[in-house]
Amino acid sequence: KSPHNVGLIIGVTGIVGNSLAEILPDSDTPGGPWKVYGVARRPRPAWNADHPVEYVQCDVSDSKETQSKLSPLTDVTHIFWVTWANRPTEAECCEINGTMLRNVLDALLPNAPYLTHICIQTGHKHYLGPFEAFRKIKFYETPFIEDVPRLDFPNFYYTLEDMTLEACKKKQGMTWSVHRPALIFGFSPYSMMNVVDDLGIYAAICKHENVPLTFPGNKVAWNCYFVASDADLIAEQQIWSSIDPNGKNEAFNCSNGDLFKWKHLWKILADKFEVEYEEFDENQEYVSLSDRMKDKGPVWDEIVKKNNLLPTKLEEVASFWFADLVFLGECMLDSMNKSKEHGFLGFKNTQNSFISVLDKMKAHKIVP
Ligand code: NDP
Repeated sequence: KSPHNVGLIIGVTGIVGNSLAEILPDSDTPGGPWKVYGVARRPRPAWNADHPVEYVQCDVSDSKETQSKLSPLTDVTHIFWVTWANRPTEAECCEINGTMLRNVLDALLPNAPYLTHICIQTGHKHYLGPFEAFRKIKFYETPFIEDVPRLDFPNFYYTLEDMTLEACKKKQGMTWSVHRPALIFGFSPYSMMNVVDDLGIYAAICKHENVPLTFPGNKVAWNCYFVASDADLIAEQQIWSSIDPNGKNEAFNCSNGDLFKWKHLWKILADKFEVEYEEFDENQEYVSLSDRMKDKGPVWDEIVKKNNLLPTKLEEVASFWFADLVFLGECMLDSMNKSKEHGFLGFKNTQNSFISVLDKMKAHKIVP
């Protein structure tokens, strides 16, 4: 046995990767003391640099680079897969995400003799189908439960699951777990889908332009119950699965355990940015957040300069297309029964989670 648990986070600067990088090295984290490696393509950003993690800059879609940079990490015991790549079609998503996982497994399996567990993060699109399938196929009725059959539509989540199970069959004693969060509330300016980030930026722009904060969605999204998944909670569930026998070889939903409504978070958001806010008005014309923000690049540059923020470009730091999907949505609830019945009892208060992410964005000077 390896003397320690050694985690390899693929996607260490992402929305959950950054939480794993913060929590895993803590002295009181279950399974600790953990040694941690973290992989991403870009140079390490300042907001991630305090976590005691060995940073490996590597593009895991490149097989040669992955071999040369990850095969020397012979002490890895656990892989945390918290990354993804987007492509125009789901067939292409299956191809690229499968290639990324294959490259990492090819570098690790023959070289890391103590490798014992792989955590794969997917999400609710397991039950909804991928973006390409939205409004084309009938998805599962909510609340989503883990053990339903797969939808009849390609999905890179299925590719990741199949490859992981296959790898575990080949290596004796190696186990897996799949984690399926809802909408994630977490801190990462590098995330490809970060709705709280989008809202913080939108509120900062409204404040700067002295216009009220209005809801860029529909009435259903404003009023209905939602569930969210705090990024720290997802990290905690992944760590639990990594070390507790009850968490192994299973797929788990991972949401906070409470419900929220956007109309309630809207006031909190407005207060945080000291901007006037408006209730949803049915008569207001629908304009997507992407459309509202499409010419705001220079405004964002001004805000960054005026407030001495970390230099960012609006198109890098925001994912308004994703917020648009969320704010046109119905309630997508899931069940946490399976996770609780297996022994993971973690929960988060969604309002506090929302506030804590906005506070981190301010503390790291991403928004004023
Ligand atoms: P993020 O977009 O937040 O983070 C991705 C991370 O992976 C970053 O650190 C990124 O850094 C790194 N990365 C991307 N491509 C590569 C590459 N080729 N080589 C090495 N590192 C790479 O990821 P999420 O946590 O959002 O996504 C993980 C899974 O969770 C996905 O399947 C997603 O669909 C799912 N999910 C996400 C939700 C959300 O709200 N975000 C909700 C529910 C599910 P860099 O760009 O520098 O390489």
